[in-house]
Amino acid sequence: TAQAATMEFQAEARQLLDLVIHSLYSHKEIFLRELVSNASDALDKLRFEALKDPALLEGDARLRIELVPDSDARTLTIVDNGVGMDRDEVIANIGTIASSGTRRFLEELKHKGERADVPELIGQFGVGFYAAFMVADDVTVETRRAGSDKGVRWQSAGEGSYTLEEADGLARGTRITLKLREIDAEEAGAADYTQEWVLRDVIRRYSDFVEYPIEMEIERQQPVAKAEDAEEDDDAEPEMETVRETVTLNSMRPLWTRSKADITEDEYTEFYKHLTREWEPPLDTIHFKAEGTTEYTALLFLPSRKPMGLFDPTEAKSRISLYVRKVFITDDCEELAPVWLRFVRGLVDSSDLPLNVSRETLQHARQLGQIKKRLTRKVLDAFGTLLADRREDYVKFWGQFGAVIKEGLYYDDDVREDLAKVCLFHTTAGDELTSLDEYVGRMPEGQEAIYVLSAPDLTAARRSPHLEAFKAKGYEVLLMVDQVDEFALQRLDEFDGKPLRSIAKGQVDLGDEDSKAKLEEQSKELEGLLEGVKEKLAEHVSEVRLSTRLTDSAAVLVSAEHSMAPHVERMMRESGQ
Ligand code: ADP
Ligand code: MG
Repeated sequence: TAQAATMEFQAEARQLLDLVIHSLYSHKEIFLRELVSNASDALDKLRFEALKDPALLEGDARLRIELVPDSDARTLTIVDNGVGMDRDEVIANIGTIASSGTRRFLEELKHKGERADVPELIGQFGVGFYAAFMVADDVTVETRRAGSDKGVRWQSAGEGSYTLEEADGLARGTRITLKLREIDAEEAGAADYTQEWVLRDVIRRYSDFVEYPIEMEIERQQPVAKAEDAEEDDDAEPEMETVRETVTLNSMRPLWTRSKADITEDEYTEFYKHLTREWEPPLDTIHFKAEGTTEYTALLFLPSRKPMGLFDPTEAKSRISLYVRKVFITDDCEELAPVWLRFVRGLVDSSDLPLNVSRETLQHARQLGQIKKRLTRKVLDAFGTLLADRREDYVKFWGQFGAVIKEGLYYDDDVREDLAKVCLFHTTAGDELTSLDEYVGRMPEGQEAIYVLSAPDLTAARRSPHLEAFKAKGYEVLLMVDQVDEFALQRLDEFDGKPLRSIAKGQVDLGDEDSKAKLEEQSKELEGLLEGVKEKLAEHVSEVRLSTRLTDSAAVLVSAEHSMAPHVERMMRESGQ
């Protein structure tokens, strides 16, 4: 073959290259996501072109991606039997940084007015390929365009120049060989990309839903098969042998892209378990497609059991993963769901979110804000439906997550009213939890407020002397025993036009004119006594007064109108606030 030509990257391109290799990405492992995404695009392009020209398939229609790790040689090879590139395309796409053949491919189709079967390709910025140099100090691309008999070999150390030569005998598609850098033992999280488990992990995280198989040959130990007539000897250690087999590393099943009507409950459950590695089925599934300014599909799950660390403040963030065109971007996107829905699992996949070049951050928080609003609304609707149709399940669910959900009453002005509708509370009316709607429905004539009592626990609440006057009146009282309730109550001051009144605070006005007048009269008569008691207790109380709120007990401690409940005050004092 002819001499290899050495070509230079353009000057600005060198700087750009440097930027890509050293500072664009925060995780090195994404090099594999980028190369696999390119392979997937190449397979999509071939499939598309073969619709018009089946000869391009050259009798090899099983489209696939293959990883070939070699730990002795310290190489990792990524192979696809996709569309490949001719010499000009290699120069334009691989030899030119920030030039995306994939974007041009789509633009051309658009220009021609092509509609049918246009593939949804991943690439667009033309820098993903160079992520390879984060882990490799030498990269070789061997490629042959489908339908052509001439192959090309491109090689570069990522330092300003590359070589290009003809290559014979290449299979259709592209074969990229990375000469991996030595592993830097000092570097946190440095991984060996020739190890089976590392590759399995990275593929599963980022490329699980690529719709072509990503295959790898692995070695496995298995007992040697015995001859038919061999004598049985149960005690002997079985003799082992090493077998090689090809495994597929990705599930290839982006369930959310299918229409809801065609998906069975079992499929949803299986997907949930696969995605989250949970083993219990979810309580409920929310699956919808949003159209409009930002198009996306969301597939969310309400777990049936609370995970560890639900109240750990360092883990108080959304657990919904963001995908763009089926490729994993991040599961650390705070703007995707409110904190009080942090137990909701699942994903959002969009094809038109404006990602930055590294795909690590989103550029327009405004669109994220809209998604968050919509997701929140959908989850609230699901709560409402559960409460109405599957109350028993919802009550159980509430037992697991209610305390987290109620944080929303405090933080989320937009949804407070609707959220209050699906909150459940303990009540003096019985042992079952009640909603505020149900409470209001039971309010007797003349009761003007919704009465609540906060207490450290249910037993203390039910024993509280504060309840006496209300019991006597036949008024129901909600019992708030979660720490979050005290905060929620600061913001939720009314429901359905009725004020929420804390019966352990300030003066409770049960609205009886006669008894009010009587109270005033008695207070005057007993002024001396009250003053005396106040003096004695001066260190502990700020006021002593007669009250109508007791029927059996002699005295009760009451908080000032706008203070925290005593047990919460204590808790905050203990935590140094
Ligand atoms: P992007 O994928 O955003 O376009 P990349 O830097 O990842 O940018 O790739 C640049 C271009 O190189 C792609 O647009 C595509 O034209 C070409 N390319 C990369 N990998 C392959 C491959 N495996 N097969 C065919 N073409 C490829
Ligand atoms: Mg790419």
